[in-house]
Amino acid sequence: MSTTDSTINHPLERPEEREQTEVGNYFVANYPPFSFWKPEYKTKIDEVLDRPAPKDVPLGVYFHIPFCRKRCHFCYFRVYTDKNAAEIRAYIDAGVKEYEAMAKRAYLQGRKPKFVYFGGGTPSYLSVDQLQDLTDRMKAIMPWDDAEEVAFECEPGTLTEKKLAKIREIGVTRLSLGVENFDDHILETNGRAHRGKEIERAYRFAQSLGFPQINIDLIAGMMEETEDNWKRVVEKAISLEPECVTIYQMEVPFNTTIYKQMKEGGKLTAPVADWQTKRRWVDYAFNEFEKAGYTVSSATTVVKNPDVKFVYRDALWEGADLLPLGVASFGMLADVHYQNQADVGPYMEAVEAGESPAFRAYETSAEERLVREFILRLKLGMIRPSYYQHKFGVDVLERFQKPLAYLQSEGFIRLEEDAIILNREGLLQVDRLLHEFFLTEHRDARYT
Ligand code: SF4
Repeated sequence: MSTTDSTINHPLERPEEREQTEVGNYFVANYPPFSFWKPEYKTKIDEVLDRPAPKDVPLGVYFHIPFCRKRCHFCYFRVYTDKNAAEIRAYIDAGVKEYEAMAKRAYLQGRKPKFVYFGGGTPSYLSVDQLQDLTDRMKAIMPWDDAEEVAFECEPGTLTEKKLAKIREIGVTRLSLGVENFDDHILETNGRAHRGKEIERAYRFAQSLGFPQINIDLIAGMMEETEDNWKRVVEKAISLEPECVTIYQMEVPFNTTIYKQMKEGGKLTAPVADWQTKRRWVDYAFNEFEKAGYTVSSATTVVKNPDVKFVYRDALWEGADLLPLGVASFGMLADVHYQNQADVGPYMEAVEAGESPAFRAYETSAEERLVREFILRLKLGMIRPSYYQHKFGVDVLERFQKPLAYLQSEGFIRLEEDAIILNREGLLQVDRLLHEFFLTEHRDARYT
């Protein structure tokens, strides 16, 4: 990492408390932690599916595409880089079959998705014909005419003009480009398959197609990232004028190539920037985007128009139903979280045998649902206690009095009338702070 004259100075830097990036998941994506989800709780999914369909709970559908051109060094997902067209076709058939079986169950019968999400892996790895076939069949099972958002993740190097046009034509409203960085050396060092010129070409063409929302993902603190390069990344991202930018701080979970190399070399610290540096870089990016007219809308996002919503994220954090389809997919129906088989072999075998491909589940208590919705929505930077009073009948100022007082004393939050507000310093490390609100039994649990 460079520490040149152009160092971005900021009070967020507390040199006495430097935290190196060690192996493990840092970000809180759900609650309770995944290590509490168990195969023995899978029967709970069937119990939910036998209930009558609810009238007032939004439904989302998530379809997972586990294929990528190349495995990134920081990736901890199970991805396949060696599947041929016939194997991809068989996988799509299995996902559609799973969908058909689920849609017949009482809890889902007659419902239409309010949002659809194609995640991965790399959904844009699919060919134009595969995309058309998959989405035609999905729409025949549950029409998309009530969907407020159809989100689709892309790797820029997989996007031809023909494929982008097809993605627009099938009804995608939010195109999310996994840019991560614009510099070819950083992209190559971190194992990304695409290069800077592919980003520019794909982005410009996508823009010309009139997607309602284009999001670009960036990662602060990738291997060999420097202060000067990060500034160029931010400048370039601003010049593209996307509707939304998502900025992650680099984490190094287990199961990554980086971790394997650390292990071989007997190292505890990952070869990426420390947490203070990453927070400072994200803070720099937030400030630059604000100068360009953007609004910071969460710990990881800036948006051009604050009225434009990210339906998938907000609905999920507010406890919507999410039907997970495909290998390793995560979802939630009523009060039961579950995940499908993480390997494509067992997943396809289960679906082909007409069995559930779920492999672990967890039924949440009312208290856990309150904590979940409190901590996830705290990532937005501001929450209203009246929302929780209305929805859960709980005064969160009283229920979380102790952790709130602690965060206040540390200078991360302030309380205003009907508002708990994280300041910038708190927002940039909110995932670390959320553990203060966990139930005792969930403290120190692993997010894998
Ligand atoms: S593109 Fe995404 S899912 Fe695929 S290997 Fe890279 S990080 Fe993993």
